[in-house]
Parts: sequence; structure tokens; C-alpha cells
Amino acid sequence: MEQLLENLIEECQQYVEKGEVASYIPELAKVDKNQLGICVISTTGKVYRAGDYLNSFTIQSVVKTIILLQALIDNGEEFVKERIGVEATGKPFDAINMRAGNLESQHLNPMVNMGAIAMCSLIKGRSEEEKFEKLLNLTRKLACNDSIEVNQDVYLSEKRTGNKNRALAYLLKSYGLIDGDVDAVLDTYFKACSISINCEDLACIGYCFASHGKPPRSDERIFESQYATYVNAILTTCGMYDGSGEFAINVGIPAKSGVGGGIMGVVPTRMGIGIFSPGLDDKGNSYAGIRVLERLSREMFLSIF
Ligand code: GLN
Repeated sequence: MEQLLENLIEECQQYVEKGEVASYIPELAKVDKNQLGICVISTTGKVYRAGDYLNSFTIQSVVKTIILLQALIDNGEEFVKERIGVEATGKPFDAINMRAGNLESQHLNPMVNMGAIAMCSLIKGRSEEEKFEKLLNLTRKLACNDSIEVNQDVYLSEKRTGNKNRALAYLLKSYGLIDGDVDAVLDTYFKACSISINCEDLACIGYCFASHGKPPRSDERIFESQYATYVNAILTTCGMYDGSGEFAINVGIPAKSGVGGGIMGVVPTRMGIGIFSPGLDDKGNSYAGIRVLERLSREMFLSIF
């Protein structure tokens, strides 16, 4: 398996140049795009790694899966579904998905920015600090890594320049889709996107969703099984934004990308996958990362379809 991963990384190295690093968050524009790493954790709990698997990057939109999980844990399925719709948008991550001049909860999706920002307001806590700590602790638990922290430079950079997200959040507020203070909710969202991880953390988080709540080599269930069904189903239809259909055909597993260059792959009952390469395609998904996943899926018959 390790050999297979090494071969894939070598084969796909040619694609790292093809993507572009995200530049709308100035701090991300500084990242070296010549990085490609992978980690796979199989059901036996065995960990396989290749390439730049130890390099750190910010979780960005992959954290939407964890925000959704925290919202489900705090409020239950029915409440969350009522507040944030589950239909695929087929639109870019920062799209305004209004219909007929109206914005309703059913136009939102947990995997695009508007839905994710609205979900941040569903996390329960006495203060904004407490809500974020809860999210960070859940991330650490899912990744089996207590030392995970926020990258302050990326957080401040995104906070300074995140005017589109600010606009989306105020639009949500004006339609009554956010409770509480908009800036405080946005702060939780910006901090969450700036959590710093590596491929192994990502593979471990993916593993927890693949195993319906059990971290590798553990019998302790850290969340209810049905929440994994909920999250994985949404990843299948919307995890790669407006690239989700193509990805379903070519790779065929629930997955979530982030503009930091990470992709988390979930192969239900079989494995968790973490990939990192910061050069992105025009949809904001890791260019080389998708090429690696396509080959891995073909080699190991991972497609759930
Ligand atoms: N923090 C980014 C944003 O909100 C996340 C987007 C992404 O990873 N696709 O713009």
C-alpha cells in the first residue's frame, strides 16, 4: 500500500504546477504550490503515508463537515435540516443561492459558505469563545491530535479581507437565517477555516466518518452513527461544490475539499484519506489532489457506485 501511494505521488507530481494557490486570502497566496502529500488510514487502523504528508495547511472548507457534525450533536437532525437545507446547489462555494428574489433556509447547503456560516450560529455555548473551543476540541478528537491549533496569520488575513463572507452573513441575517451577532458568528467561521492540520489529521477525521463515529484503534464512539450517514450523504452531493458530479463519476466517494489544498476522502467502512496539494482548479478544489484520488479509486475499487 505504501508503495502504491508513493507511485501515485510520483506520477501526479506533474500536476502540482497546473493548479493556482488561492490568492483571495492574501496569506494563502504565500504558500508554495509545489507540495503533494497523502495519508490513508485503513479499517485495521494501519496508517500509510507518502510525499509531503507531514506539511501543515489550513483546513478551510473541510471544517464545514465538523461544523455540521457539531450542529447535529448540539441540535439533532430534524432541527438542523429545518434551518439549513440539504439539496445540492451545483454552485461555487461562495454563491448566493437565492431563488425568485428570496432566500430561505432550504436554499442553503451545509457545504457552501452561506450554509456553513448559518450553521456556526447553531453551535451551542455561553460565549463565542466557548463555541469555538467546542469546535476545536471536536476537531482534535476526530483527528486524534490534541495539539491542533489555529493558524493566527491565516485567521487574521481572512478576517481582514473576507468581505464576500461578511456580505453573505449580513444577507443571511436580513432574511432571519442567523441568530445572534453577525460579526461574532463570522469570527467563529473565520477561525474554524484557519485551523492548521496535516494529511494524517485529515485522514483520521475521514476515518471517523467512514467508521460512523469510531476513531482508529478505538471502540469508543465519539458521535452517533446516523450523523455520519447525514454528513457522508451531503459530501457525496455537494462536498466538491460545482465539481461534485464529475468527482462522483471519476472518484465516487464522499469527500470534502478546502481552498487550503486539502481533500478529505471518506470510504464508508473501509478507510479515511487525507490529501494535500495547494494548487487549485477553477472550482477551488486541489488540482493534483483530485488526480491522486482518481487513480487511487481506480486501483483500489473505492467507488461506492
Ligand atoms: N475560508 C474560505 C472562505 O470562506 C473557505 C472556502 C473554501 O475552502 N472553499 O472563503
